[in-house]
Amino acid sequence: MLASLTSVLGWAEERGCAAAAFDTPNLELLLAAIGAAEARDEPVIIQHAQLHESETSIDVIGPIMVMRAEAACVPVCVMLDHGEDLDYVRRALDLGFSAIMIDGSQLPYDENVALTRAATEMAHARGADVEAEIGFTTGHEGLEDADDDRANVYTDPAEAARFVADTGIDALAASVGTVHGFYKAEPKLDFDRIAELRRVCGVPLVMHGGSGLSREDTRAAIAAGIRKINYFSYMSNAGVRAVEALIAEKRPKYFHALANAATEAMQADAEAAMEMFSMVPTA
Ligand SMILES: [Zn+2]
Repeated sequence: MLASLTSVLGWAEERGCAAAAFDTPNLELLLAAIGAAEARDEPVIIQHAQLHESETSIDVIGPIMVMRAEAACVPVCVMLDHGEDLDYVRRALDLGFSAIMIDGSQLPYDENVALTRAATEMAHARGADVEAEIGFTTGHEGLEDADDDRANVYTDPAEAARFVADTGIDALAASVGTVHGFYKAEPKLDFDRIAELRRVCGVPLVMHGGSGLSREDTRAAIAAGIRKINYFSYMSNAGVRAVEALIAEKRPKYFHALANAATEAMQADAEAAMEMFSMVPTA
């Protein structure tokens, strides 16, 4: 069933775990994400990122996301990921998305607040929840060669608390040492910062760039207070590897054989990620 972000994050808070959020810019990823959630009997968040608009329009995949969420036997939040402007936020809300993320993290503080506040008013008026970001997680999911030499700007807890109060958002994406896409160097997560952000902000914390982290780092981030983890690149890549293997072994003649092999492999990867995120951490 279609679920709110707040209800899914409430489930995570109650269990002391993190909800998985998967970007699903095509049908195979969408079926894999919901299939994983149903296999594990856990809530899930499926997302369409504005930067994926050129690959798949939200007008094409958005209605299918909402339809599959409604048909699912587990709670599914349908969310806009990294919304960049109010027009795109409106398009997601018009399609029935239950949550949006607005990303003004590259703007100066006051402009980020103004954009986030406007998006929050628009979303809340439609009964949708809002995630926003302060600090900046480098890289881009789903873009080849998205090298970004800028250092991550770690989120300042005092500024983050002010940002939450100034905007009225429901969840906060904070920059705590992860990057989007594939890791080229060992990530250095700041667990003390996560704990301090959790203490001062009063809303659930979101960690972007969750694929490619070690099990230990992931569990420690959840123990420190992360309640939503965005996971995409490794799942998508699992589909590529399955297709490569199938072509090398059997050279199938029909495309659906490749699509189905990718879906199966991506669901297995998503299930493994959910297992890592959802188990109650040992104290
Ligand atoms: Zn992100």
